[in-house]
Amino acid sequence: MTLPGLSGYSRGLYSNWLWHQPLQLLVDAGEGLPLALGTSVFSPSVVAITHGHSDHVLGLPGLAGARRFGKGAQDKPWTVLYPRGSAGVAAMRDAIAGLWPGVSFPIEWTAMVTGQSHHLSRSRVLEAFSVTHAEREPALGYRVLETRRRLKPEHAHLSQREVERLSRARGRDHVMEEYTHVVFAHSGDAMPIDAVLVDQADLLVHDATFLSAADRRAPVHASSEEVFALARDAGVRTLLLNHLSIRYDRRTAYDTLREQLTASGFAGECWLLDEAQFINLR
Ligand SMILES: [Zn+2]
Repeated sequence: MTLPGLSGYSRGLYSNWLWHQPLQLLVDAGEGLPLALGTSVFSPSVVAITHGHSDHVLGLPGLAGARRFGKGAQDKPWTVLYPRGSAGVAAMRDAIAGLWPGVSFPIEWTAMVTGQSHHLSRSRVLEAFSVTHAEREPALGYRVLETRRRLKPEHAHLSQREVERLSRARGRDHVMEEYTHVVFAHSGDAMPIDAVLVDQADLLVHDATFLSAADRRAPVHASSEEVFALARDAGVRTLLLNHLSIRYDRRTAYDTLREQLTASGFAGECWLLDEAQFINLR
């Protein structure tokens, strides 16, 4: 089973990445990434790194090499977005330079801070938001915002024909307004993010390292119970959990997640990415 358009891998401390094919967006680049992408290594236009821990960045040199020397669009430019001041990303950049001295790569390295955005297309931007994770390695979450148009609420009582007539008489901006819709959001490794950031989001990918907040020693990762509550409060359409700690026995952990999901009142679709498997929790 899988979620349409998505592939990925998630095992905390080992490797984490998610390929969102419709957005041509890769979030994080853990080990094994180029192998898993295969001939699709040339597809990603943007790689958004949430933080520089090894399980999120070690695939970058392999991806750079496969794209630069493999059979395909070697010159196709790609952008790596990363939290400003990330030591892990700086180390990967040095590794790429050191592995292939004198070779230039068509990579744009862009340091990001909270609130900064990067254009993906005419109507979509990727925006960084702050998250709580490790103290020494800066971390960001990312969300993709799409600009849409809708009827202004004061015209809601009008029929389609009346709306068209008003639009011709007074102009489109008199009847319609622009708003932004969250198409996609990814927390990276993080404590629960603010529900306001993902209000009505189509897809939220969130850290769920723990089944219970009581298992948490330091404030660096979320629990599944916390994430179900935030997805419910935000009215998220589809939730994808990842980064579930390897301390939990899988057979009982999946049952626990399903029980928590039912009890939470979250009504959307719900999945877990566990290693390379997408598990439907409904
Ligand atoms: Zn981490």
